[in-house]
Amino acid sequence: MPAPQNDARRAALVKGASKAKIKALVNLNACTGCEVCIAVCPVPDCIEKFGEDPTNWGVYVNYDICIGCMLCAKDCPWDTIRMVPTTAVAGHVSSLDSQLDHNHAAFENPEVVPDHLRDFANKPPVTDPVVVNLFQKQNPQVPGLMSPK
Ligand code: SF4
Ligand code: SF4
Repeated sequence: MPAPQNDARRAALVKGASKAKIKALVNLNACTGCEVCIAVCPVPDCIEKFGEDPTNWGVYVNYDICIGCMLCAKDCPWDTIRMVPTTAVAGHVSSLDSQLDHNHAAFENPEVVPDHLRDFANKPPVTDPVVVNLFQKQNPQVPGLMSPK
């Protein structure tokens, strides 16, 4: 169970997360909204769910506090999360900004996510070959990216 969130703790998380070489990217099109990733993530509010029903729900990762621990990518039952280089998602606020396509219903209805994240609908699909290649592989564990920080 993650510790309670507060300003000092969040500031420490942001500082630590800024050094992470990898971040968790959720592929919205494959996410079932099962919330397993939320249960295993050790960082409070790092992964959050949005939407009202299976037609438009999903989860996103807050990049500012994702420490790159990989637990969500290892435990997602639907193999929906990849650990991607932080440099590949530079300038992105959350994993909503880093989608490989715009097929999810949230792109038609961005008000299902909080205000400060809604610009995701205006971000172009990610074309970085490293990221695309990771999502073409069934298993997200790539030793070169998972080495100690
Ligand atoms: S564990 Fe995977 S399928 Fe379940 S909510 Fe998280 S990303 Fe979606
Ligand atoms: S990599 Fe770790 S900190 Fe980041 S979203 Fe996944 S479980 Fe949370």
